[in-house]
Amino acid sequence: MTETLDIPRVSDPTLITLRDKLIAGTPLDADDGKRLFATPDLHGVGRLAHWLRSKLHGEVAYYNRNRHINYTNVCALSCKFCSFYRKRGEAGAYEMPVEQVIATAEKAANDGATEVHIVGGLHPWMKFDYYLDILSGIRARCPQLHIKAFTAIEIVHFSRVARLSIRQVLTQLRDAGLGSLPGGGAEIFDERVHDEVFKGKVREDKWFEVHRTAHELGIFSNATMLYGHVEGTDERVQHLLKLRDAQQRAIDDQLPARFNCLIPLSFIPEGSELGHLPGPTGLGDLRTLAVARLLVPNILHIKAFWIMQGLHLAQIALSYGCDDLDGTVVWYDITKREGKGTNHQELHVRQIERTIRDAGFIPTERDTLYRTIERDESDRPIMQAAARMKLGSATP
Ligand code: SF4
Repeated sequence: MTETLDIPRVSDPTLITLRDKLIAGTPLDADDGKRLFATPDLHGVGRLAHWLRSKLHGEVAYYNRNRHINYTNVCALSCKFCSFYRKRGEAGAYEMPVEQVIATAEKAANDGATEVHIVGGLHPWMKFDYYLDILSGIRARCPQLHIKAFTAIEIVHFSRVARLSIRQVLTQLRDAGLGSLPGGGAEIFDERVHDEVFKGKVREDKWFEVHRTAHELGIFSNATMLYGHVEGTDERVQHLLKLRDAQQRAIDDQLPARFNCLIPLSFIPEGSELGHLPGPTGLGDLRTLAVARLLVPNILHIKAFWIMQGLHLAQIALSYGCDDLDGTVVWYDITKREGKGTNHQELHVRQIERTIRDAGFIPTERDTLYRTIERDESDRPIMQAAARMKLGSATP
C-alpha cells in the first residue's frame, strides 16, 4: 500500500477546496458531487479519484474467475432500458431447467471459476423451490464455488411468490447455499426516473431493505448505478450519496456484512425501448466512475465492468478510481455492446492480466469477498490465501 502520495494536480481552482477535503478525509457532499460533474477539468477529477484509489488499494487491480448464468429471460416487467426480457412464448424466450444451471456451474468450477453470478427475469410462474434447488444443487456438487445470486428485485419477487418475508426468503436462500447478493436493480434512486423508465419495479426503499436485511444476516452484497439514460448528473450524485449513507449505517451498526463493491453500469441503448437515446460517451463513463470513487469512499471497491464499459475503456478506468474489472464472465445475456452478435462474452485470464499490467497495475485474482486467490500447479484455487478484506473503514 502506498504510504505517501503526491497531492493530485487540478487545473480548475474550484476543485481545490474539494481536494483539501478529500486529503483531510472529510466526506464530500452533494455540492462537491455536482462540481465534479460540472468542471471542465475531467482529468483533474480523474487524478483525485486515482489518488483515493491508490490510497485504498495501492497498485493492485482485481479480477476474478467467474461465470455468469442468466437462468431465464422471461420477466413479468418491461423496464424501458432493458433489452434482455421476453414474454413467455415470445421468440427468444428461455427458461433453464434446474439441472442445466447446476451443470453449467459445475463446468465453471471444473474450469477454475471461484464464483457463479446467477440472475434472471422475474418469472411469473416459477416456484420458489426452483431457486432453492439451484442453490442446494450447486452447493452439493461444487462446495467451494461461491454463489452470488439474485438481485434485490428478484428477492422481492420471490417473497411475493412464496408469501414469505424478505428475511425469510434470504434466510432460506442462504441456508440453501447463497453466498452473496449482486447489486443489480438499483438503477437510479429517484422517483421521476423510476416512474419514467422502470415503473413497476420496486422502489428504493425495498432495494435498501433487501440489502440491509442481507447485511444483518451476514450476507455481503454489491451495489450498482445504471447511468446515462434519462437521469441527470444531480440524480447520480443523490444515488451515490444514498449508497454511502446506507453503507455507513451498516458500518456504524457493526453489521456482520455490508456492500463489497460499487459497480456504475453504463447504459447501452441498443435493443431497448430507449434505443433513441445516445447513451454515455467514453469520457462521460470515466467521469462517472471517478465521481463514484470520490463520493463513496466507504464502499472499498469500484468496478469498471468490462462488459458494460468495454475492455479498452475499463482499462483506462483503472486510473480513474476503479480497482476491479470483474472477471472471465463467459456468457452474459443481459446486454451486449453494439456489433456484438453473440452473448458469448469471455475474457481469458491472460487477457485480463495483460490488460491490467499494461495499465501499470498488479493483476490480482480475488474471490467474491476480495480475498486474494493463489493457485496450485494444476491451476486449482487455493482459497483465502491471504485475506485482504478490510472491514469497518468509513474513511480511506
Ligand atoms: S431490468 Fe430486470 S425486471 Fe426489468 S424488464 Fe429487465 S429483466 Fe425484467
